Amino acid sequence: MGRSAKDVLPTAGVLTLRKALCISAALLSVACTTAAGPPVPAPAPVNTAETAIAPDRVADSLLVDVQSLAPDLVVDMRYTTANNFTGAPLPGYIANRAYLRREAAAALSRVQRALRERGLGLKVFDAYRPARATEAMVDWTARANRADLLRDGYIASRSRHNLGLAIDLTLIEPATGRELEMGTEFDTFSSAAHTANASGAIAANRQLLKSAMEREGFASYDQEWWHFSFSGPEPLRFDVPVR
Ligand SMILES: [Zn+2]
Repeated sequence: MGRSAKDVLPTAGVLTLRKALCISAALLSVACTTAAGPPVPAPAPVNTAETAIAPDRVADSLLVDVQSLAPDLVVDMRYTTANNFTGAPLPGYIANRAYLRREAAAALSRVQRALRERGLGLKVFDAYRPARATEAMVDWTARANRADLLRDGYIASRSRHNLGLAIDLTLIEPATGRELEMGTEFDTFSSAAHTANASGAIAANRQLLKSAMEREGFASYDQEWWHFSFSGPEPLRFDVPVR
């Protein structure tokens, strides 16, 4: 599962020195690596701003069911079921539907169209996520003694998913529904899921997904090969259930 404490918490002196070096490197836009070993873990993704939750009627007017634009998208919303890392459905997920802000949904439909021309397609694991579901994830980390997942950037306490501006997905062969090999399961919280941490066919599949998404304006997240975010629409936080 997660990285052990020793991987991420060197002695205080080294950590301080490393921080100083990282700051210098960041100023020079140089990747921050240690002299001795693997790259310093990427910082946690910046949580979204602590904004008020927009009324449900606003959410209903701005969020779009992605299958209304791309009916051939496969949707398997894992937090609607017990088949997720918490072992139970999350609150706010009622139906197996994937919503995004309209602009992001339109971009996703273009990704799907381009992939279909290559004999591939997308399978969605999560999209818009109600704020109450994110709170349930954070509560789970406390119960499971996995605060490290918040610290290490695998679970955001204020996620872009709550804005309808992030999506989790993989590539499939539409004819069979078979998922392309990506090296880890969705929601594997370890360095094995870091996009660049792969070789051969797995690296090629991850790059294929990444480049197809980036071509339509999505940004990848280097710690999770399945997670992509979208910028543009004014960010608004929602809690309307997925139904
Ligand atoms: Zn995600």
